Amino acid sequence: MAVSKITEVQAGSTGRRRITILGATGSIGTSTADLVARNPDTFDVAVLTANRNVADLAALARDLRPDIAIVADDASYNDLKDALADTGIEVAAGSDALVAAAREPVDMTVAGIVGAAGLDATLAAIQQGSVVALANKECLVCAGDLVLEECAQSGATLLPLDSEHNAIFQVFETENADDVEKLILTASGGPFRTWTQEQMAGATPDQAVAHPNWDMGRKISVDSATMMNKGLELIEAAYLFPVDSQDIDVLVHPQSVVHSMVAYTDGSILAQLGPPDMRVPIAHALAWPARMKTPVERLDLAAIGSLNFELPDNERFPAIALARHALELGNGSTAVLNAANEIAVQSFLDNLIGFLDIAKLVEKALDQVVARPVQTLNDFRDLDTETRAVTESLVKLVS
Ligand code: NAD
Ligand code: MG
Repeated sequence: MAVSKITEVQAGSTGRRRITILGATGSIGTSTADLVARNPDTFDVAVLTANRNVADLAALARDLRPDIAIVADDASYNDLKDALADTGIEVAAGSDALVAAAREPVDMTVAGIVGAAGLDATLAAIQQGSVVALANKECLVCAGDLVLEECAQSGATLLPLDSEHNAIFQVFETENADDVEKLILTASGGPFRTWTQEQMAGATPDQAVAHPNWDMGRKISVDSATMMNKGLELIEAAYLFPVDSQDIDVLVHPQSVVHSMVAYTDGSILAQLGPPDMRVPIAHALAWPARMKTPVERLDLAAIGSLNFELPDNERFPAIALARHALELGNGSTAVLNAANEIAVQSFLDNLIGFLDIAKLVEKALDQVVARPVQTLNDFRDLDTETRAVTESLVKLVS
């Protein structure tokens, strides 16, 4: 299991660290870049990547001075080349170039691409055997067995960046793993926590991405609104920590102050608290096993006053149960769940389907696609491609 591995591995050198940021222009990427820029004596940037956002990538590259900046989109090559012409920074384009750069040896990679699109590059980073700080949870949902197998083979260390998993990592006593009774994943409940089903039926993309506490990319924001994000995180936790899936609970906590908890057999519950700013878990991973300063606003618990907790409403938010079902089915079902969800979320963002259709389409895809084990990248690609095609046909029936 990844966490028991974490304690075995020495944390690189205490001196300068070379770092690659995959998905540098995104929400995770820019939070990471902010911390790296504040610590020029600690980090050297090797690689920065983006999909096609040339302007933001070029600005980050001018600031952080990587060896190479890469766009996945081939057609953006000339724009990036022009934008960095006077800098001496190498530029490249295309998914092969991106994966090759992810394979270049560094001390740490931040895996911040969104969705299954990040799997190849994340696996390439894992194959170099160093530290991979994983935000791209879809990698574990799509191909968790393969990811952990590659970690075992290369000796790479996965550090969880997702705030919940980072919180659990901070309070999980590896030496007392047998005495862990439960992991408790907290969830904000998203922007529709108090909405009725009728209200949610008419929810627009803009309403769905307006998260009350966190400022994130559009895909994960919609996942938070459906609570599929918590379903994906349940699967992520089952891969990262040596705990049975039935012993992973979800608890809605609207303030997003307690980022998750571990309950032990003696009745103790350990929690990690912090402001809802991803720079806290990112800093934890960047400095691990030490700590580093961050400029985030400190928690003022007296001003917050009270912390609330409630059980998730599985009727209004069926996605968590769907994810748990896929996890229990095993055999590639979570890859089906992920692909169907990615297509359904994008279709919702494109105004092709309604908000409540997202979970319905995922459920139908899980019924219609015959899942099979994902042991190789080709296994994953076959299942992913088939599920995307099935879900796209389901979208056409709705729209
Ligand atoms: P985002 O949409 O803000 O950024 C995504 C990044 O990936 C961008 O740099 C984009 O250019 C790049 N990208 C997108 N498609 C790509 C492709 N096909 N090929 C190569 N690069 C591509 O997303 P985000 O919110 O930063 O989330 C990134 C990952 O981190 C997701 O897996 C998300 O679930 C996870 N995560 C995010 C947060 C958060 O606060 N944003 C918290 C926890 C976990
Ligand atoms: Mg999270």
